[in-house]
Amino acid sequence: MRTLTVDLGERSYPIYIGAGLLARADLFKAHLAGRQVAIVTNETVAPLYLKQLEASLSGCELTAIVLPDGEAFKTWETLQLIFNGLLQARHDRRTTVIALGGGVIGDMAGFAAACYQRGVDFIQVPTTLLSQVDSSVGGKTGINHPLGKNMVGAFYQPQAVIIDTTVLATLPARELSAGLAEVIKYGLICDEDFLAWLEQHIDALRALDGQALIEAIERSCAAKARVVGADERESGLRAILNLGHTFGHAIETHMGYGVWLHGEAVGAGTAMALEMSTRLGWISSDERDRALRLLIKAGLPVVPPAEMTPEHFLEHMAVDKKVLDGRLRLVLLRRMGDATVTDEFPREVLDATLSADYS
Ligand code: NAD
Ligand code: MG
Repeated sequence: MRTLTVDLGERSYPIYIGAGLLARADLFKAHLAGRQVAIVTNETVAPLYLKQLEASLSGCELTAIVLPDGEAFKTWETLQLIFNGLLQARHDRRTTVIALGGGVIGDMAGFAAACYQRGVDFIQVPTTLLSQVDSSVGGKTGINHPLGKNMVGAFYQPQAVIIDTTVLATLPARELSAGLAEVIKYGLICDEDFLAWLEQHIDALRALDGQALIEAIERSCAAKARVVGADERESGLRAILNLGHTFGHAIETHMGYGVWLHGEAVGAGTAMALEMSTRLGWISSDERDRALRLLIKAGLPVVPPAEMTPEHFLEHMAVDKKVLDGRLRLVLLRRMGDATVTDEFPREVLDATLSADYS
């Protein structure tokens, strides 16, 4: 087992990574505030892993709250189901909420923990690659509003993140690739050695090689923990985690949620950020092509949807959260392994990037 620490002063917490950690009762029990525990999970994950987690929590006063599966349920109404479950079973302020599932469950359970009786303890047990390397670390929690994704939420840090790599065996291959988009992102934005390592191990990762997974998850979480530790509430640096995301969100919004997985949109969005960095003369076309090959080997699209015009992109990107004072800010690569958030680029380079041929 590997252990990392997210360094946030008195809100610091450990991330444990290893095979079979769901069975490690000692890890869970070390982080419980009291005897009451509420496990929040969904209809897909519960039949696979709920029993195993419950066995590790024997002796606790347990409530399992099983929610419907899907981004469409990351809503106020589903949040109420969590509060209903907690109140019906009379959970008090020393309850610990455990999120067992992907990013949707982690974001919702975390927000519920932040609100329930003004805040109870919370443990993340992420079960998708994306949630293991991204959403479970950093303390962003929340739900969607009909008028915008992730528009209602809180920064709320867990007591611990417990990552069992063996649960990835049941994850659909497409979801695994989507998680790899974020893994590759960390290499591109802040760790060139990791990028080289990924080139060597991408096939092993897709084949779920245990050692490779642990290494990739540890290095990804370490990268995210470093960035979050330096900028917990996204006043600056944390925005580099959005490499490929401004273009990617435009693709997700335009195509409609669920048509492209988030990670797939980030794959194509990253291809666009690489293209723009190349056109600015910051990285070479060889470096761009090397990164594209890695994304392709990860099973990700690197070509934006044919039906999207530059105007479509501009329209969706104008409402992106990174627009400050009317200027569009983008995450681009100064060098491989070194990202920057900038609004200093000639408009022509953006236009050329949006109309470039990616096929
Ligand atoms: P998800 O939670 O929808 O999970 C994807 C699918 O895999 C679901 O159907 C889920 O039930 C299923 N699943 C989960 N674990 C499984 C397993 N081990 N075996 C088989 N199936 C399994 O999607 P996700 O990609 O994990 O997370 C996406 C969400 O995360 C979005 O809502 C996004 O906004 C959020 N997010 C949050 C942050 C953050 O910082 N808080 C960062 C990135 C993404
Ligand atoms: Mg992302």
